[in-house]
Amino acid sequence: MSRIEVEHLVKDFGGRAAVNDVSFSVERGALCVLLGPSGCGKSTTLRLIAGLEEPTAGRIVIDGRDITHLPSKDRRIAMVFQSYALFPHLTVAQNIVFGLEVRGVARAERDARLGKVAALVGLSEYLTRKPGQLSGGQRQRVALARAIVSEQPVCLMDEPLSNLDAKLRQEMRVEIRALQQRLGMTMIYVTHDQVEAMTMADQVILMKDGAIEQAGSPVDLYQAPATVFAARFVGAPPMNLIAAAGPEPSVVTGVRAEDMRLAPPTGNGADAEVTSIEYLGADTIVGLRRSDDGDAILVRVPGRASARIGERAALAWDPAHEHRFDRASGRRLS
Ligand code: ATP
Repeated sequence: MSRIEVEHLVKDFGGRAAVNDVSFSVERGALCVLLGPSGCGKSTTLRLIAGLEEPTAGRIVIDGRDITHLPSKDRRIAMVFQSYALFPHLTVAQNIVFGLEVRGVARAERDARLGKVAALVGLSEYLTRKPGQLSGGQRQRVALARAIVSEQPVCLMDEPLSNLDAKLRQEMRVEIRALQQRLGMTMIYVTHDQVEAMTMADQVILMKDGAIEQAGSPVDLYQAPATVFAARFVGAPPMNLIAAAGPEPSVVTGVRAEDMRLAPPTGNGADAEVTSIEYLGADTIVGLRRSDDGDAILVRVPGRASARIGERAALAWDPAHEHRFDRASGRRLS
């Protein structure tokens, strides 16, 4: 197990900073998710740690050892890419042990590790197949097995599940998390999917425009988003932003869909009209619009909502569930 420290990391591409003064640390055996929208710099950060890019400035330290300028192959890091990067002409077994062969690990040792890892990821019956004869999920498992078999203390993953369908993604994120914990790997996992971040991470680094917007546990990010951006990016549906109540125009108030209730209409201008109903099984997301603001306000109602499109309702919530942000800076006030 290894501790990873990233200090003031900068990467310029032609005068534009893709990564701009990023610092964070990952504890031994923890799973850290780099989360953010497309282009925010999360893949570049991962590639800098892997040694696939040279930083413009900053340091990367693993277990007290400065690896910033070490060649990628000497960093003791395993990596899983979105594309899986499998060799199509090699069998599953050959793909899994390829890196061990390159490193000169003896045959008997390779076979022993292969057997163990294949069983671990459920590939024992597929070892003689070629990647072209596997499903997407099985290919993903080969890439995972190849990372695990290397027994490196650090594993980096770049959107490893993005080519899989929703059901398989859900299964694989549970599997990856269980394996990471069982093997005690220190892992950095890049995704733009906030559900993956929430369900898998010990620690989330939310990035925007090359910088860290907020770092913390999934619960921290959900319960106390540091900015309007964090409030809207983490959680589904995104947090409702309520139009400024008259006395505090400099404040934006946020309330999550599950913290809102529908109440009988009051007959005054604050009532809203139901404009959408999305039945999800366990609950229903009811969308409403008020005359004074543009964005629909979403309310999560347990079970099947009785509301109908076009109906009017009042919106109610407990002020204790309000998140307050400064309108100008977007930063959290309370
Ligand atoms: P995605 O989820 O789309 O992969 P990301 O958050 O991982 O996005 P990066 O791939 O790190 O983002 O890219 C960050 C920024 O740096 C983007 O604006 C991208 O266009 C730019 N960038 C990345 N690699 C290079 C490169 N080799 N040359 C020039 N610009 C690059």
